Amino acid sequence: MPVIEVDSLHKRYREHIAVAEVSFTVERGEVFGILGRNGAGKTTTVECVEGLRRPDGGRISVLGLDPRRDAATLRAKVGVQLQECRLPDRITVREALQLYATFYPDPLPWRQLLADLGLSRQANTRFEKLSGGQQQRLSIALALIGNPEIAILDELTTGLDPQARKDTWALIEDIRDRGVTILLVTHFMAEAERLCDRIAVLEAGRVAAIGSPAELVSTVDSAQTVRFRP
Ligand code: ATP
Repeated sequence: MPVIEVDSLHKRYREHIAVAEVSFTVERGEVFGILGRNGAGKTTTVECVEGLRRPDGGRISVLGLDPRRDAATLRAKVGVQLQECRLPDRITVREALQLYATFYPDPLPWRQLLADLGLSRQANTRFEKLSGGQQQRLSIALALIGNPEIAILDELTTGLDPQARKDTWALIEDIRDRGVTILLVTHFMAEAERLCDRIAVLEAGRVAAIGSPAELVSTVDSAQTVRFRP
């Protein structure tokens, strides 16, 4: 049974249609990418999956539950990494993780998580002193501290230098290898190709193509539509 099912999702902001008609399913253990240009509707789609936004039409099921009606239950099972990690400037990495750990019934040990993410040396560093790459790692750590079944990661390598991006990709592979299902939002085709088992390509709020990277590259090369880079 799929762990995420999105069926005919429709979402408007006033008269502007952000998501016209989006359907996809994510199987347990896979890395599923949502790829598209700026404004394609990626964040709106995942925010509906996260229960942060109310769809105007369609149906979403996450682990068999409704993201809005069953938000409290899902919070412990779905880790969300936000597009921008906003924390108080003076909070340290350790304090942030310890605080987030209190929100979950079965959190991971924060020391081990920091070690896994290469952040042990920053445990007592304040948020304001972290580099962009370290902030990204912390935002991933905050998404994982609750030991989730599903992690939703939104544009997590945007703004990183090539080495930090490669390190983050290795990290995502580690997370997948622990059996966490990953829904990954990106506008880098190379990132989607490297990490994802399957990808939905969004264009103007609709699914333009869906399939494995190999399937997409062959359809896309002939259609000449999807091979974009930022
Ligand atoms: P990006 O890659 O830039 O993050 P995206 O694919 O995630 O883009 P969305 O952020 O979902 O796209 O936006 C889809 C459309 O909805 C865009 O046209 C955007 O301008 C519009 N939009 C997004 N959020 C809002 C909002 N809160 N109010 C009004 N319009 C919005």
